[in-house]
Amino acid sequence: MTVRVRLAPSPTGTLHIGTARTAVFNWLYARHEGGQFILRIEDTDEERSKPEFTENILTGLKWLGMEWDEGPFFQSQRLDLYRQAIQTLLDKGLAYRAYDTPEELDAMRETQKAKNQAPRYDNRHRDLTPDQQAVYEAEGRTAVIRFKIDDSRTITWHDLVRGPVTWQASDLGGDMVVARASSASTIGQPLYNLAVVVDDIEMAITHVIRGEDHIANTAKQILLYEALGAAVPEFAHTPLILNQTGQKLSKRDGVTSISDFQKMGFVAPALVNYMTLLGWSAPDAAEQFTLAEAAQQFSFDRVNKAGAKFDWDKLDWLNSQYLHAMEPAALLDLTLPYLQAADYAIDPDADRRWLLPLVGMLAPSLTRLTDVVEQSRFFFTETVDFADDAKAQVQLDGVAAVLEGILAGLNDPAPATLDDLKALVNDVTKAQGVKKGLVMKSMRAALMGALQGPDLMESWLILRQREFDVSRLKAALALV
Ligand code: GLU
Repeated sequence: MTVRVRLAPSPTGTLHIGTARTAVFNWLYARHEGGQFILRIEDTDEERSKPEFTENILTGLKWLGMEWDEGPFFQSQRLDLYRQAIQTLLDKGLAYRAYDTPEELDAMRETQKAKNQAPRYDNRHRDLTPDQQAVYEAEGRTAVIRFKIDDSRTITWHDLVRGPVTWQASDLGGDMVVARASSASTIGQPLYNLAVVVDDIEMAITHVIRGEDHIANTAKQILLYEALGAAVPEFAHTPLILNQTGQKLSKRDGVTSISDFQKMGFVAPALVNYMTLLGWSAPDAAEQFTLAEAAQQFSFDRVNKAGAKFDWDKLDWLNSQYLHAMEPAALLDLTLPYLQAADYAIDPDADRRWLLPLVGMLAPSLTRLTDVVEQSRFFFTETVDFADDAKAQVQLDGVAAVLEGILAGLNDPAPATLDDLKALVNDVTKAQGVKKGLVMKSMRAALMGALQGPDLMESWLILRQREFDVSRLKAALALV
């Protein structure tokens, strides 16, 4: 048997971290088993589904590296298939048309509430006679199509994450609506649970891997598989992602869209690595791994039942590990859009010669790609503002002569390497008869306008390539 799994997002919002994590688990399992990963867009909700959300979901999945083997299939293009299945249920006497008005349903719920009963449909139209049906039709009522649920049933399955799960059919809320806005001769809009089951059968899905919030749907769907005479697939319900207070992570917790994580400067390999850890742990307890490594080791017996707390510190830590290990060229490609968005004047081709060493130098201190904007700010200006302590440093006795000595040495022949700059520092130190520490501290103050910052000599070399060292030394000397 070839394992076939699917991701079935509804394009009613951007790609959410929960859906993305479900994608990761599906993908890992498919790759582990040498199976297929299918993408199906569940866009039957015409009002809430938007093409831009579909676009966002597809782009986000690709960005994360969750490439799919088949699809995307769109449920909105498959409505006939669902209507055929509903017709089959009607023909078998397993479904029927119910003509209750919204007011009647409300009244029914009020009565149940008054008696302290859970809300449910009381199946009152299950056995309408053709005459009763004709009367309702004549009144102009529209029907829904309900699938009969046998309240005496106990539904059980062996969940790959949760073990044995049992549901009483009597807890499913009565006969279930599978299509809206129908009439005696038509089948209206097919609904979620029915469409999912028809598709999962038709697409030969062997394992349904999805969030724990779908457990009640699974109980209903198992009854539909049976009614349609199809084999029931395996189910794996993955734990919810929780916020710091232990509630389900939601929009109120701030960022939840994959596109937002991307904008915030997380890189895809770090984010998928982190999502894999939201509920799964590697047999060797490794925390940093590639998707391919995780796929090799993935199994459901290492997926937790308990919810997974979202931990920003850990995500930041993982992201920093990926950034620290990145080649300057790759890092530059990823950071360039942020630098450009910050309106720094950059010619991506001509400036590459100093941008590469710049991002290479900053890499070890980056947590998110966005950090590069602040940390590199001072390389984009001809002059800098002086902090008080830096100003005091350049005004110390003897420092002007040191800075003038350096400035003079920048002309002929112009130093172009780290070694040239080191030699210049040594020459001026000797010529002025001062301590090397004084030269270094004064150069830092003059070039950076501050007494702390990134590596002095590497920074100087970058500024040298732009001749910003000259303009800054002149500005520092003007303070004296
Ligand atoms: N369309 C459903 C959702 O977005 C998922 C359905 C499923 O995985 O069965 O939550």
